[in-house]
Amino acid sequence: MVSAIVVLLELEPATEVVDADVGETDIGARVRAVHAAAADPEAPADPLARTLCGLDVDELEPESYTPAGPGAPWYPPEYRSRHCLDCDAALSGV
Ligand SMILES: [Zn+2]
Repeated sequence: MVSAIVVLLELEPATEVVDADVGETDIGARVRAVHAAAADPEAPADPLARTLCGLDVDELEPESYTPAGPGAPWYPPEYRSRHCLDCDAALSGV
């Protein structure tokens, strides 16, 4: 059972999507998948070197999301359709 996790976003490597109206990079539009890594026991805000599905966290973008409470999904609700199934299975204990 993983007690503390860090949520990480896998972004599209393609050109940044820029919202023409506000002129800002739209990170949400570039999210390919949402992964989770166990938190480093020495530094709870930092993930261990690899995600639960084995990806190198250096390739991923940390997301400052923490589940709302027991039973809440580990991934941000807006990325529900893109959460990593391998990470999900690891967290569900399947
Ligand atoms: Zn994953």
